[in-house]
Amino acid sequence: MMQSVSVPIPQSAPIPAIPVREIVPWAVFGGVGVLVLLYFVGVEQGAASIFSNTLVHEFVHDARHLAGLPCH
Ligand SMILES: [Zn+2]
Repeated sequence: MMQSVSVPIPQSAPIPAIPVREIVPWAVFGGVGVLVLLYFVGVEQGAASIFSNTLVHEFVHDARHLAGLPCH
């Protein structure tokens, strides 16, 4: 004889709502971080450079070529 076993399906917990007021500072922080990273990868070279030597440029050189940004 076959017996059926009923397995209770776990009820999913309600998704907590995160207020926009708590997300905005992290979104701004992440946006600024992305812009700084994009600056160092894409623009930090020559007359627009913050650091006078080419250390930063050489450090992110492969990322610049990977992103398709003009280099040399
Ligand atoms: Zn290059």
